[in-house]
Amino acid sequence: MSKNEELREKLFYSAEHACKKISDDELKTADSFAEGYKKFMSACKTEREVVDFVKKLAHENGFVTFDPKASYKAGDKVIYNNRGKAVILAVIGKRPVEEGVHIAAAHIDSPRLDLKPNPLYEEAEFALFKTHYYGGIKKYQWTAIPLALHGVVVKADGTSVEVNIGEDAGDPKFVVTDLLPHLAAEQMKRSLAEGIKGEELNILIGSRPFKDDEGSESVKLNIMNILNEKYGIVEADFLSAELEAVPAFGADDVGFDRSLIGAYGHDDRVCAYPSVMAVLEAGEPEYTALTVLADKEETGSDGNTGLNSSYMAYFIGDLARMQGGVASIALSNSECLSADVNAAFDPTFPGVYEKMNTSFANRGIVVTKYTGSRGKGGTSDASAEFMGRVRRLFNENGVVWQVGELGKVDEGGGGTVAKYVASHNIDVVDVGVPVLSMHAPYEVISKLDLYMAYKGFLTFFTK
Ligand code: MN
Ligand code: MN
Repeated sequence: MSKNEELREKLFYSAEHACKKISDDELKTADSFAEGYKKFMSACKTEREVVDFVKKLAHENGFVTFDPKASYKAGDKVIYNNRGKAVILAVIGKRPVEEGVHIAAAHIDSPRLDLKPNPLYEEAEFALFKTHYYGGIKKYQWTAIPLALHGVVVKADGTSVEVNIGEDAGDPKFVVTDLLPHLAAEQMKRSLAEGIKGEELNILIGSRPFKDDEGSESVKLNIMNILNEKYGIVEADFLSAELEAVPAFGADDVGFDRSLIGAYGHDDRVCAYPSVMAVLEAGEPEYTALTVLADKEETGSDGNTGLNSSYMAYFIGDLARMQGGVASIALSNSECLSADVNAAFDPTFPGVYEKMNTSFANRGIVVTKYTGSRGKGGTSDASAEFMGRVRRLFNENGVVWQVGELGKVDEGGGGTVAKYVASHNIDVVDVGVPVLSMHAPYEVISKLDLYMAYKGFLTFFTK
């Protein structure tokens, strides 16, 4: 190396492909970690299904249901389930909770099509469901792909029935139809945003009339009869239901080299899964370790299962109180990695990214100092001190990482749960996996970045 090259090496910064920074053994470990993730992704498509999965896994790993009246000692593992739609896993640390807890907070809701409260209708001898999309979607992407239906229906007598149809081999699928190009001359003149409108996201669910029926809405009657036989429900039960239409396909390797994974809902299960795996392996940490899986991030974190609710602060307060500590002191001393995805640079659409400050797939987890839009509107801008702390932590422990903004200044923007965590006076920064085609029915991530997320969260909990 020449003197100038040495100087460059010493003085300049650039992020590189994680392959250049890790051993062959670690590469294998990363690839095998991805296998578990793919199974999880194929099995869990909604917030409720993630909570069920995590609950089961946690109990198998020695976690017990959190009891706010109990008291816990270092190494104890507890799980707090918020209405079956959000969950906290905690491993009690050696230090008092009042000295602060270490939190990894991801969200487990993803963009999708929710059924309206009164969804079922018949038109032209088809039965269809009306939907209301959930989260930020490009609506045209949700037509002409196989959909599955997941969720819960609460019946008049208060009992509930779970629905999961369209996932298993042999299950029927559902679909939002689109216009043939031959007759789409007018539609094609619409803007992309209007190409498919919200009220055109109607899901096709059947087409045969009820046998020997001469009355009206015979196809609808037939569908309702099938649903009644299978689930014991009547039309009015839709009024108290949460039914979500999601892509019916599972997770796959993408690319000849199998370096990437395609799946529905990487945002943000690609951060939820590694943060769960990390807390399961936290052992007996110095500081209490929390993995928080929140609902409702995609609609702004509102509602009692979103992180704009107080449930996480109540939980930490309860832990502090059990030890004779004070909630506000525990919160103020806490640190959080807001675990959410960022946009990976897409070479097909380079114009929206500022290449010096965007994240790239395969360069490790992306630390996002601030999100928001315009003049950093609506962000929790992490302090230089907390960025410095995370930088040292990752560098000293072999976590491959990069920084990234969400696109060019004034190009758009977005937010995460970080600001809701910060509102409790907790130090927080966004750390997550870069994603291609974010919010599309089939998003893409890199296996190496997924593994580095796991390594990053484990390091944060244990070092
Ligand atoms: Mn997200
Ligand atoms: Mn999102």
